[in-house]
Amino acid sequence: ASLAGAASLALTASACGQSSVRSSEGTSVGGTVGVAMPTRSSDRWLTDGRSIVKDLKGKGYKAKLVYGDDDPKAQVSQIENLIKQRVDALIIAAIDARSLNGVLQQAAAAHIPVISYDRLILGTKNVDYYVSFDNEMVGRMQASHIIKKLGLEDGKGPFNIELFAGSPDDNNTKYFFEGAMARLQPFLDSKQLVVPSGQTKLSRITTLRWDGPTAEKRMRGILATWYQSKKVDAVLSPYDGISRGVLSALKSDGYGSGSELPVITGQDAEPASVKSIIAGQQSETVYKDVRELAGAAADMVDDILKGRRPRINNRRDYNNGVKNVPAYLLQPQSLDETNYDVLIRDGYYTADELK
Ligand code: BGC
Repeated sequence: ASLAGAASLALTASACGQSSVRSSEGTSVGGTVGVAMPTRSSDRWLTDGRSIVKDLKGKGYKAKLVYGDDDPKAQVSQIENLIKQRVDALIIAAIDARSLNGVLQQAAAAHIPVISYDRLILGTKNVDYYVSFDNEMVGRMQASHIIKKLGLEDGKGPFNIELFAGSPDDNNTKYFFEGAMARLQPFLDSKQLVVPSGQTKLSRITTLRWDGPTAEKRMRGILATWYQSKKVDAVLSPYDGISRGVLSALKSDGYGSGSELPVITGQDAEPASVKSIIAGQQSETVYKDVRELAGAAADMVDDILKGRRPRINNRRDYNNGVKNVPAYLLQPQSLDETNYDVLIRDGYYTADELK
């Protein structure tokens, strides 16, 4: 199998892996970019992959797009394969921020520049640029929504809140949570917000691989143990898939039929969650136009391969434990029932897709 595999790899490499060709002006045209995305299980990553490929094509590159299906080992071997196929650059959204050290050493040895896409790759010097949204701002926006909806700044409370965070192996998780807590902490201190479960430490509230059913299970446990004679007023959720899991636990517990649903945040403006917002269930989501993120990544690759300095704005320092990775950060936007139609105006979805 390995011989056949090697032969077919060699074929692919010579057939499509043609590395950059020099034009008469000495600028690089063409080339192939390896794009490693984490999962097909959520809409946003499908849009990311599709948009990156389209934008690279528009600039004259070929793209090899792979999805790691939330399996860190599978992602490592996919990237190994892309390196063997001699791609000219790599765009990687890591599944496990710390599992790519070895494979990125191979990329560096092959002089393949690496862009860390959306999620910062940790613990290696072999990552050249980072392109993402202002992740701390995402958390701040979610918290701000809760603060506004509950009227905390008008002194209202006390309210019961439960906290959910993303996958522990995704570096964004920490930024989302820290951003949210920077806003929520004063209201926890003043006891306008109370966490009946007592589960407030990041390590206690993460959700492996951002899995909705895992969050649903945790929420069911919390409701059964801590809410026999209490009502949940708000849930901080970092991602729409988690929000829908939480909602489903609440509904099985009788919320939404008679008693009011709590304020529930989210992220990614997934169609199912936008519909839920329209139906008055989930209350907020953070919209990140990943078509712009894809465009920024394609620009970066093009700049690097043409020997230009990529555009960076370093809105925040993104240190990966070994170095500050030069970063280009885009702005997220908070959406609720008052402004979700931005998605239609932006052409992110058609009106029909949200029906
Ligand atoms: C992304 C979010 C996404 C989450 C789960 C994070 O790294 O920044 O947009 O909701 O992964 O896929």
